[in-house]
Amino acid sequence: MISIQNQIIVENWMNQLCFDIWIIMKQNRKTCQDINLDNCKILDEVLWKDDRLWISQSMITLLIREAYDLSISDHFDMNWTLNLLRWLYCWSNMRMMIKRYIWNCYVCRRSKASRDQINELLKSLLILEQQWQNISLDFIINLSESDESNVILTVIDWLFKKRHYILC
Ligand SMILES: [Zn+2]
Repeated sequence: MISIQNQIIVENWMNQLCFDIWIIMKQNRKTCQDINLDNCKILDEVLWKDDRLWISQSMITLLIREAYDLSISDHFDMNWTLNLLRWLYCWSNMRMMIKRYIWNCYVCRRSKASRDQINELLKSLLILEQQWQNISLDFIINLSESDESNVILTVIDWLFKKRHYILC
């Protein structure tokens, strides 16, 4: 079975961005897309940045899963997972991609308490006692002109849903 390390190297060989970075570094340029190429080096045709192995897009999810999902007791938090992966690997937007992965973790979403704001209890609607006590108003606009008007004001009674239409 192929190790993750070897799988990363093979993926990097086949990845267009890694190839572009490799070419740009050969030309002694300092950036490729949004990636700063300072502290990048190529050893044995493998790309390294800050002494960490560069990871191509196709391997990112697998590595996050390896670091995050395979803990024995509980899933790790964002910073622990980030620090674990940063120890060996490097890719663009690491923090954001790990955060998104953890946010979408099915196990955590089911088992951990929600941090969403708690909604208030629903309040019942006001009980109406007579018609035209509560009304809603709305305008119907952009009608064709008739009697020098092209707008209709609608007045609706909430209790019996009676309506009045007023040309204006
Ligand atoms: Zn989780």
